[in-house]
Amino acid sequence: MTTIHSLLSTASQQLTAISDSPTLDAEILLSFILQKDRSHLTAWPEKELTEDHCQQFKTLVNKRYAGHPIAYLTGTREFWSRPFTVNSDVLIPRPDTELLIELALLALPENKALNILDLGTGSGAIAITLAAERPQLTVTATDASAKALALAKKNAHQLGCTTIEFCHGHWFKPLTGQHYDLIASNPPYIAPNDPHLAQGDIRFEPQQALIAANQGLADIQTITDHARQHLKAGAPLLIEHGYDQQAHVQGIFKRFNYDRIATHNDLAGNPRVTTGVYNT
Ligand code: GLN
Repeated sequence: MTTIHSLLSTASQQLTAISDSPTLDAEILLSFILQKDRSHLTAWPEKELTEDHCQQFKTLVNKRYAGHPIAYLTGTREFWSRPFTVNSDVLIPRPDTELLIELALLALPENKALNILDLGTGSGAIAITLAAERPQLTVTATDASAKALALAKKNAHQLGCTTIEFCHGHWFKPLTGQHYDLIASNPPYIAPNDPHLAQGDIRFEPQQALIAANQGLADIQTITDHARQHLKAGAPLLIEHGYDQQAHVQGIFKRFNYDRIATHNDLAGNPRVTTGVYNT
């Protein structure tokens, strides 16, 4: 028979080769299989597991060893303290994007019925978090991927946000002339030749959600340009971008005549979100 402790120590040794957090990875996978909190594993190290659980665990550990992200193996990732269902049709929500939420919440007073737009919603992390934090908002979210939208709708349902309007299409294409009090986006912004694309978890994520032409700036440019026809006077545009794209993104905002342009740092200290307002 195999104990929790022995399974975990073998797995974390195996995962040392591919992960910066091998013990944590092993614990997350085992608690997922057992449907118990991680504290259960530390409380009961000598507990013996069924052959079935051992096999399921080994299968997941081997997948992790082959590089699959933990979030795709467990099918979930927390964002702004809510669990989002994820699969390989969508980007795994990242802590970096919580900066965009923070800035959007600052721009959205609690008691006002405003309407906002999230472009390229993926798992729905941005649209759903803002809808949940500010229930009086009218939220629209678009995505070019029908599979992503299906998952975003599922997340909205699971997290009790039933009023978000999900639209299938590229950026602003599915919208007809609406104007918004705020537009937010975490678009693809990685350059096609970026070596990071061949490393780690990112290899398993949808390229459509990661890669943009023109050194990663093509979609940011499209969004910044077209947002001008969809922002109410003085309403903000918030765009997430790469840690080294601040100057280029600010240049794009300037070229399209945005005012009050500012770039904000994420928790890791990297310039991550640029904001500006458009006065029509
Ligand atoms: N921040 C992500 C990364 O560098 C990329 C997300 C994106 O392209 N929108 O892994």
